[in-house]
Amino acid sequence: MRRLRVLLAEDGPDNQRLLTWVLERAGAEVVLAENGQIAVDAVANRQEGEGPFDLILMDIQMPILDGYAATRQIREHGYGGPIIAFNRQRDVRRPHPLPQRRL
Ligand SMILES: [Mg+2]
Repeated sequence: MRRLRVLLAEDGPDNQRLLTWVLERAGAEVVLAENGQIAVDAVANRQEGEGPFDLILMDIQMPILDGYAATRQIREHGYGGPIIAFNRQRDVRRPHPLPQRRL
């Protein structure tokens, strides 16, 4: 059985490492794209060669081309497979710092 081919479009280094690790542990072959433009190019090039990706994981917030624009262009290239979008939550409310004592 061949490995699942996954395109991971994600600009954040921590998420790149974590998601690549999880996907590879699950037996997938992972191609990493650091921004939406690279993801679009990867899909376009892939379809001329080795066949399409089985799954695309798409970060919404990325430089150069965001996840929305990249997804549109990838669909225009004829990719009909699943694209799962995700967004890093940036507004996580931090716990209040301990009140500083005045000495
Ligand atoms: Mg991002």
